[in-house]
Amino acid sequence: MSSIAEELDRVRARIRDAAERAGREPAGVRLIAVSKTQPAEAILEAYAAGQRDFGENYVQELTAKAEALAHLPDLCWHMIGHLQRNKARHVVKVASAIHTLDTPELATELARRLDPARPRLHVLVEINIANEPQKHGIVAEALEPVLAAIEREPRLELRGLMCVPPAADSPESTRGYFDALRSLRDAHGGSARLPELSMGMTSDFDLAIAAGATLVRVGTAIFGSRAAKAG
Ligand SMILES: *Cc1c(COP(=O)(O)O)cnc(C)c1O
Repeated sequence: MSSIAEELDRVRARIRDAAERAGREPAGVRLIAVSKTQPAEAILEAYAAGQRDFGENYVQELTAKAEALAHLPDLCWHMIGHLQRNKARHVVKVASAIHTLDTPELATELARRLDPARPRLHVLVEINIANEPQKHGIVAEALEPVLAAIEREPRLELRGLMCVPPAADSPESTRGYFDALRSLRDAHGGSARLPELSMGMTSDFDLAIAAGATLVRVGTAIFGSRAAKAG
């Protein structure tokens, strides 16, 4: 079995290749290591290999790990799972960014709960890019009021859009969803207003980079497959 450091190297090489094939600067793509269900030791191993951005899906797990690893001050936590308003106060204590904002009310609550001593919270809006009834995120038509709510809050920094496309039957249809997220960004102020596109996971981050992803969220390819707990 290869180590987390070796797998990280492999993922970084894939990111570099995908960026170069797309005529993009590899430095324009940031890797978020998705550490949900992984123990703090695995995160430490990735940290020792230079990884600084980590993604978590569940509030309790996020706060527990952030506490356990609080001695690593340059570690950045990204909340990438659905966030309920009543848990916002826990997340703002530790997260640098939230990728899953989906209501104006959540923007207000995050801003209200954010300690003024902390840096501004980076916020991305989750788009339900294929209008799947069982998925979180908003439909494209509902985007503008959510963006406006974020921009009203000086403690929040609007950064971009995020999506998790359906498990697709072909690379072409996956690519279509990534292109749709980028088009939506272009229709709402482009990269001046929304510099980040958070899209692409283990199975499809190469395609996402070709479509313009600036943040890729990769778990399995770095840490190995997860226990049955999360999918
Ligand atoms: C789990 C998860 C990932 C990582 O998925 P892998 O297939 O393990 O790379 C990325 N984004 C979100 C929102 C996730 O829940």
